[in-house]
Amino acid sequence: MPSTSSDVLLHDPRVAADPVAVARTRPVLTVRLDAVAHNTRVLAASARRLMAVVKADGFGLGAVDVARTALDNGAQSLGVATLAEAVELRLAGVRAPLLSWLDAPGADLSDAVLHGVDVAVPSAEHLKAAAWAARRLDRVVDVHLYLDCGTARDGCPPALWPDLCAAARRAERAGSVRVVGVMGHLACAAGLHAEANAAATRRFVRGVEHARAAGLRPALRHLGSTAAVLGLPATAFDMSRVGAGLVGIDTTGRHPVLRGAAQVTAPVVQVRDVGAGVGVGYDHTYRTAAPTRLALLPLGYADGLPVSASGRAEVLVHGRRRPLAGRVSMDQVVVDVGDLPVQPGDVVTVIGTDGPAPTLTDWAGWAGTLPHELLTGLGRRLVRRVVPAPPSPPPALPEEHL
Ligand SMILES: *Cc1c(COP(=O)(O)O)cnc(C)c1O
Repeated sequence: MPSTSSDVLLHDPRVAADPVAVARTRPVLTVRLDAVAHNTRVLAASARRLMAVVKADGFGLGAVDVARTALDNGAQSLGVATLAEAVELRLAGVRAPLLSWLDAPGADLSDAVLHGVDVAVPSAEHLKAAAWAARRLDRVVDVHLYLDCGTARDGCPPALWPDLCAAARRAERAGSVRVVGVMGHLACAAGLHAEANAAATRRFVRGVEHARAAGLRPALRHLGSTAAVLGLPATAFDMSRVGAGLVGIDTTGRHPVLRGAAQVTAPVVQVRDVGAGVGVGYDHTYRTAAPTRLALLPLGYADGLPVSASGRAEVLVHGRRRPLAGRVSMDQVVVDVGDLPVQPGDVVTVIGTDGPAPTLTDWAGWAGTLPHELLTGLGRRLVRRVVPAPPSPPPALPEEHL
């Protein structure tokens, strides 16, 4: 299980006893569950119900940790891409309502039935597979019919929707399937593209009307994700599925209220003083302009630093931004620290969450990619340190007790 590495390392006595000493010798990924808790509360305040999306190992930060933190801070349910991810959460003891939406119709959906996982149904084949698994185990499977609202990626093409709704109603009558939700997904939410989002929302509303006309009574209509919660209140319906926002990625770029949940530091392992005109690293893509000091950090693209950020990326050394020198290698990068008195063992912030440190979004800009890709690509070689969330506030007392 992906969480194993974090569990093992979290319980690594060296990290527990002295995180500072570990940071002086190993690159460390610090997972800020306190930030996840904060972000969940912010998002929950703007959504009717919140489904915490913890696919891809909780965007790389640990699915079980992120799931538990979100559930403790305002999320009512969980979403994942695949049944394998759902089962991992169940085996870790997570019992909240859980939805999986990207399984092949040929997949054995018995796991969904046995573990009480809802499945998304984008096609007649998926519906058949879900009904078959439920009948075989003499149970009922809860499904969310999934309409393509304009991604042309996943979900049921609108032309096939009426037939899917009719088939789902027949399966309900046969007793193996219960349609508890209708879902869609926005293609252009992040850009807050008004026209595309309005068209998708109309398509979704019509899809729900079709489902009701077919005799279905889906209690949960859900269309929006993080960007929709932050910027598109018209897409709220009964529930919002948020992933990126939980880990501090604001896909709209407009909401500084979210907090970054991942920090990466690395120790300096070697320094050298060089003159002007010295070529650094493979192919000498960097040449020193003047006499300077070069500091070596033991992390590279195998740890998730994108090669494409070479020549642009900066890190925080002694409180100052300093450029990477040369190309990001598999295991290492060089920093041109200028005249800073850097020594081996000094700790450099590679990805930070506040202050002058470069953020995940800075790195995404330097690399021409998304913060999501960088976060989910942080490697297994990084030591993981998990900062717990503060205890969740007690539930508010009912009014008669006040
Ligand atoms: C990833 C995903 C989400 C979450 O989107 P964010 O932008 O990360 O909040 C919601 N729904 C579906 C279908 C997804 O694949």
